[in-house]
Amino acid sequence: MKVKFWGVRGSIPTPGKDTVRYGGNTSCIGLDAEDGTIVIFEAGTGIRMIGSKLAAMSPVKVHLFLSHTHWDHIHGFPFFIPAYIPKNEITIYGPPHFDKNLREIMAQQMVYSYFPVNSDELQATIKYVDLKEETVEIGSLKIRSKLVNHPVTCFAYRVTEGSKSMVYTGDNEPYYNFMASAAMDEAETAEIAMIVEEQNNRNVEFVKDCDLLIADAQYKHSEYPTKVGWGHSSNVHVVDMSIKAGVKHLVMFHHEPTRSDAQVDEIVQETRAYYAGTGHTGLTISAAAEGDEIVIV
Ligand SMILES: [Zn+2]
Ligand SMILES: [Zn+2]
Repeated sequence: MKVKFWGVRGSIPTPGKDTVRYGGNTSCIGLDAEDGTIVIFEAGTGIRMIGSKLAAMSPVKVHLFLSHTHWDHIHGFPFFIPAYIPKNEITIYGPPHFDKNLREIMAQQMVYSYFPVNSDELQATIKYVDLKEETVEIGSLKIRSKLVNHPVTCFAYRVTEGSKSMVYTGDNEPYYNFMASAAMDEAETAEIAMIVEEQNNRNVEFVKDCDLLIADAQYKHSEYPTKVGWGHSSNVHVVDMSIKAGVKHLVMFHHEPTRSDAQVDEIVQETRAYYAGTGHTGLTISAAAEGDEIVIV
């Protein structure tokens, strides 16, 4: 399978001279399977460019997986040209919320107050699949979803094709005891610590031995203490998870919007230095940049 980054930024697009190398578009990852199946993860603004490419190939079948429906993961969808072309088939997979299914959530950003085209007016055949933790089989791919820790229902996805696999974490913060307080006695604290550890171990198990891990690593570890509960990981979190899981290549993703290219470079160096300091070897570490391709063979 081949992965291509079309948008790598978290939260909000960041055009400008300081972000030209890593890119300013919000999350969008294209995945081409060996059998030609076309998968896209996330509909951030990066989806506009992959849409232009796919529009020229119409009619096409596209499988679009959303980790969650925060703006930066869906706000490119109204500009996804294949959705306007009859005979194209687009299946959108993602989490429903308590009171709304995925179709209703996606339709909300295309009401006339916000956008001139209503989602019912899109010309392509569009199907919506409300996911839970499960495995979806599409052509030569198996795509497994797993809930992760974010302020809204959010999935990580593991894609397997034959013996090859890649995991995309979506927006993800390690589990922690968010109820910790002085009022909690020792036994309660210990019990919650055990639950937290179990949940984090489930994440490690989900990532286990994958060839490629694309991981939300929005913060430097020194920044994380002021961002607890915001739903994102630090560079150290994702290295530690990669070590435990035996990952081969870690790609840091969902870059903090205030970060310049030079600062992302610095974080890559800092992260590699941290990994070297652990005494482990064999993990490749890089930061996602728009236009980069990774072929897993
Ligand atoms: Zn995000
Ligand atoms: Zn989010």
